[in-house]
Amino acid sequence: MMLVDVHAHMDIDGFIGKKLDIDQAITKCIKSDVVAIVSQGVNIESNRDVLKLAQKHKIIKPALGIYPVHCFEMISQGKEKEFNLEIEFIDQQLKNKKIVAIGEVGLDYKEIEPTDENKKILKDCLKKFLDLAKKYDVPIILHSRGAELDLIEFLEQEGMKNRRVIMHCFSGRKHLVQRIIDNGWFLTVPAIVARLEHFQYIARDAPLNQLLTETDSPMLSPDSNTLNDPSNVIFAIKKIAEIKKMDENEVANIIYNNYQRLFQQ
Ligand SMILES: [Zn+2]
Ligand SMILES: [Zn+2]
Repeated sequence: MMLVDVHAHMDIDGFIGKKLDIDQAITKCIKSDVVAIVSQGVNIESNRDVLKLAQKHKIIKPALGIYPVHCFEMISQGKEKEFNLEIEFIDQQLKNKKIVAIGEVGLDYKEIEPTDENKKILKDCLKKFLDLAKKYDVPIILHSRGAELDLIEFLEQEGMKNRRVIMHCFSGRKHLVQRIIDNGWFLTVPAIVARLEHFQYIARDAPLNQLLTETDSPMLSPDSNTLNDPSNVIFAIKKIAEIKKMDENEVANIIYNNYQRLFQQ
């Protein structure tokens, strides 16, 4: 079996006071048939860490971005120059083929109060990442919380239809899931799917060739007593296979092919 985790944070080494030992986690993943972990940068520092990790571990595929909350902080603290420099930095990494995707980026109306002014700040930031995704034709991994419809509309408006868009842990309603499918985008099923019914609907409604697996490690552990690591993507595979009444190996193969198709350069 070849397993892929398209959304993890391997640079975050602590969660609820525990430590995720990166080398141990990588060894465990390799033993568990994980072949690729797309690790997401969320700010300037994290982007550097992700690049370093990817240099050390072949299994880690780097994605760089600025998380919406950090975009908002930078702009509202007058750090627009630093923000633009980071966009330039990411542009360079894409140009030199040092990264496989853009992420984690998106819109968040739960952490950031969605006033018209704040929404504009978030969208102006996101637009820069969308422009990069279009310029280099690379996958973009999107986060949305409380902003699902706005995000879809914004992406459509910015010409992202049928581009390499991945909606990670999408928690919008059913008709929005359908709209994502109709736009030719991808949805992820996270390892925590057995505990969160919503993601079971995604596994049921989305065609298998538009699904990917993720863990969001070290967050969203399928087992609340242990830290999450990318080897847990197997739980997403198992649940998809159960819901779609298919063989686990076949599901894993198709998801792996989706990953290859989407991330090929
Ligand atoms: Zn997220
Ligand atoms: Zn994340």
